[in-house]
Amino acid sequence: MEQKKEQRQIELLKILAKGCKKHPAYRAIRKATERCEECVVVWQARVELNALEES
Ligand SMILES: [Zn+2]
Repeated sequence: MEQKKEQRQIELLKILAKGCKKHPAYRAIRKATERCEECVVVWQARVELNALEES
């Protein structure tokens, strides 16, 4: 179970490291505007990562 959580965290960190191609300055500190799908994906990865770290 712990291992699965770690694997997911690594996946999410990769998404965050990759970021959005169109908006390389976006670091998911604030919620993404829904206009850019890629930014939303990065934002959702951040939210999920935070949730995993708290659990
Ligand atoms: Zn973007």
